[in-house]
Amino acid sequence: MVRGRFVDADQVTMKPVISISAQIFPHLLQYCQSQALTHIALVADQHTYAALGKQIAEQGKQCGLDVQCIVLSADPVQADEFHLVQILIRSDRAPRAYLAVGSGTLTDLVRLVCLTRNLPFISIPTAPSVDAFTSTGAALTLGRSKQTVPAIAPQAIFADLPTLCAAPRPMIAAGFADLLGKFTALADWQLGHFVWGERYDAPIAARASAALRACLAQTDAIARASAEGVQGLIAALFESGQCIADFGSSESASGSEHHLSHYWEMKLLWENRQPLLHGAKVGVAAILIAERYAKLHQLTYAEVCARLDSVAWARAAMLAQIRAGYGASAEAIVAGHAPFLDLDADNLGRVKQRVRANWDRIQAIAATVPTPADLARYLRQIEAPTTPQELGLTKHDVTAALTYADYLRNRFTILKLNRLLGIEP
Ligand SMILES: [Zn+2]
Repeated sequence: MVRGRFVDADQVTMKPVISISAQIFPHLLQYCQSQALTHIALVADQHTYAALGKQIAEQGKQCGLDVQCIVLSADPVQADEFHLVQILIRSDRAPRAYLAVGSGTLTDLVRLVCLTRNLPFISIPTAPSVDAFTSTGAALTLGRSKQTVPAIAPQAIFADLPTLCAAPRPMIAAGFADLLGKFTALADWQLGHFVWGERYDAPIAARASAALRACLAQTDAIARASAEGVQGLIAALFESGQCIADFGSSESASGSEHHLSHYWEMKLLWENRQPLLHGAKVGVAAILIAERYAKLHQLTYAEVCARLDSVAWARAAMLAQIRAGYGASAEAIVAGHAPFLDLDADNLGRVKQRVRANWDRIQAIAATVPTPADLARYLRQIEAPTTPQELGLTKHDVTAALTYADYLRNRFTILKLNRLLGIEP
């Protein structure tokens, strides 16, 4: 019998049960018993099955659970159509609770399968590498394009500390770097609120900021992958993901640094290049965005007014950029970016006026972003990449992302402000 939680409107706002411990199985078993979850499907890849999945499956069977294992053989597994279908065709028809044993990729595949089949979803992270475990969206590669599609949040998350501590160090560093990106994300969110009128929630911004700072206070312990450090990191990642779920949108966790990262991810895919860890890209991108905030901080009010008076909002030039930057996906980007592309003269004038009226506030927002050198120091402490070259990204990759990435989302970030001010990317 599968009771658990079924997909309905309330699911979006429900908080998952979260358990972080040195030995998760007793907690998982107790949870399954309390929810009458007797039939389980465990989805893993070869590595996560060896690291934790096999142990959970064996213990589950010994305790009387009916466990089906679906171990995906690709290395690495991608969150794409092929693997979604793999899981679906290897699933039996029994109504089971699905356990995603893995990091972001496996979690996103399983959250969509559970939405599609209306089955309970439990997340068992094996690396503290992203903040998306508690999320409702699934980041998928569909038709060689990255899309975040609505799915479901897990109803429970069981984080096994020994497994997380033994995760590959670059994955731990990526989780830390994903959090470090909240400095620029939170600055962009405020910018969007004051200049573009975007919805803002100060208590959620404060929670996201507190999670980031709690994590920074443990940088040394995280760098050593100590149990204490990794517990702090995974708790901060869960909190960041929960902020997204509570707000119903990703502004508290994702700004222009994520847009650069998403653009690189798509570009690597189009060019058949090796994918990179999400957090590793976000950390490097956060430094690039911090450079732009530092330059903004140096502009005087007179310079800003002169720029606003002289710069045109050229729709044709922006359309040409979208076509150059997105190729076959350009029309979808154009359609999704209408609020910015179709900005008329009156509304453009209002936006410019908000920049003038809020200039002191914008300067204060810029001051909340650490210097590029400070961000690089944090990243070096955990041996995360700090430059595009370390990631294998070229100068062209960087220029392309800085030129085109702001078209990916309908968000007013520093990249949009720079466009408004005629500042070269
Ligand atoms: Zn992220």
